[in-house]
Amino acid sequence: MNEKSKQRKKKNVMVGESYLVTRAVTHIRLVEVNPGKLAALDALAPVYLALCQQYVTLFCTREKPNKVRDPLYATPLSERWHRVAIMQAAGIAQSWRSNRAAAYQQYRDDLARYQKTQTNEVSTTKAHEPRWREWNVPTLREPCIQANVNVVKLEASQDSTFDYWLTVSTLEKGHPIAVPIKLAPYRKAALTDPKTGQTRKLNSSVQLNKRDALWWLTLSYDATQLIQTPPDAPVVGIDVGIANFVTTSTVKRYGSFHKDLRARHKRDRAKRRRKAKLRACLKKKRGKKLPSTSSRTGGRLIRHVKQEINHAVNQCFTDPEHEGVQFAYEQLSVASMRFKARAQNAYLRASQLGHIPRQILWNSQKRGVQATLVISAYSSQECSVCHYTDRKNRPEQGTFRCQVCGFEAHADHNASVNISRRVGDEQLRACLDRTAIKAVLMQRHEAWKQQQGMGNSSQVKRLKRGTPSTSTSSI
Ligand SMILES: [Zn+2]
Repeated sequence: MNEKSKQRKKKNVMVGESYLVTRAVTHIRLVEVNPGKLAALDALAPVYLALCQQYVTLFCTREKPNKVRDPLYATPLSERWHRVAIMQAAGIAQSWRSNRAAAYQQYRDDLARYQKTQTNEVSTTKAHEPRWREWNVPTLREPCIQANVNVVKLEASQDSTFDYWLTVSTLEKGHPIAVPIKLAPYRKAALTDPKTGQTRKLNSSVQLNKRDALWWLTLSYDATQLIQTPPDAPVVGIDVGIANFVTTSTVKRYGSFHKDLRARHKRDRAKRRRKAKLRACLKKKRGKKLPSTSSRTGGRLIRHVKQEINHAVNQCFTDPEHEGVQFAYEQLSVASMRFKARAQNAYLRASQLGHIPRQILWNSQKRGVQATLVISAYSSQECSVCHYTDRKNRPEQGTFRCQVCGFEAHADHNASVNISRRVGDEQLRACLDRTAIKAVLMQRHEAWKQQQGMGNSSQVKRLKRGTPSTSTSSI
């Protein structure tokens, strides 16, 4: 590991320290100056995609992802392109594997809990035995090429008409294409270092995407960011959800998967279903051309939801009430989240929840504000007053009502308070699994009971509604 990536790996940086962030300059359209120039790229894309897919399948099913694996499959691509494909496939397979492992762990936890309720007590709720459905290997559909210096070269243009030249090697050996890149003034401004006034050095790796029959380029550069948050700054916890994208321990809510979006999502879902039905029907009749089930409006909706999320997180960071604070947020494993109702699961996917933590990280880095990733287990089931942790504390999705002390709050708010307190909680961080975490939380509950003079009796009378005790480090 080189020095740069070491610096980037470090998660919790202290005040005054600087770290490297990679920033992307996205959606630069490749313009065709001479007709037919990008045809070489069009010819390369399907060959590259097919090879990359072979390695994705290999790394997901039979071998551990290995970025520097020896070439295995035959291809008309050059050896350099071949290595680029292996590297990209290993990255895709790696994240697929870790998402799948997290989901599988969640399933095992659910199963253990289910089995416990089956043997220990007479279950009052009609719980279904959790089932594991094996994941499909990812399918690469749209051409996306993560190219490095082996196959592309980005050079500043000498004449003034264009800003850069992108040289891409193609299927034909010795016949690379040179594509001129012109940047809009606002992009040039973004690429100028405010301190030195000079253009930043761009990374040699670039990403090429083909979407809607057009080619798009993503450039990136590294920038140093200084953390400006003092370590004793008050912690604001962030809970992430669908009803409200962001709920903070300061009792603020930002953005939601609102009525408009829900209605659009519903229409899109219905349209997809109709198409799927039609496909099934035509298949039976051996129709000639099957309609595609992917939808353009669906893609637009996803982009729109992401914009709403960006706006919500931005509001949270720029809220005057949050000046001088640090943030705590939890890593969601959206892949393992499940609701009982199918429609809810569809909302979950459509709401792009996984985009929220990414956006929080990006905002904190951009602004030099400390944001700490904390353990997420039981944050929505734990009572923020007495630490009693139970599923039953959540009678409905939006409500938190403690079974022991009777504390009642909006569920997201209760969770955000828990999250704010988990910064620097070494005892929780040392836990190896969810069972250990629950044991620690219940120990804390016992300690709370002792403090309240409730002793060890398991039958504790309900207290009147309480208010959360505030610790010094959280608001
Ligand atoms: Zn409680």
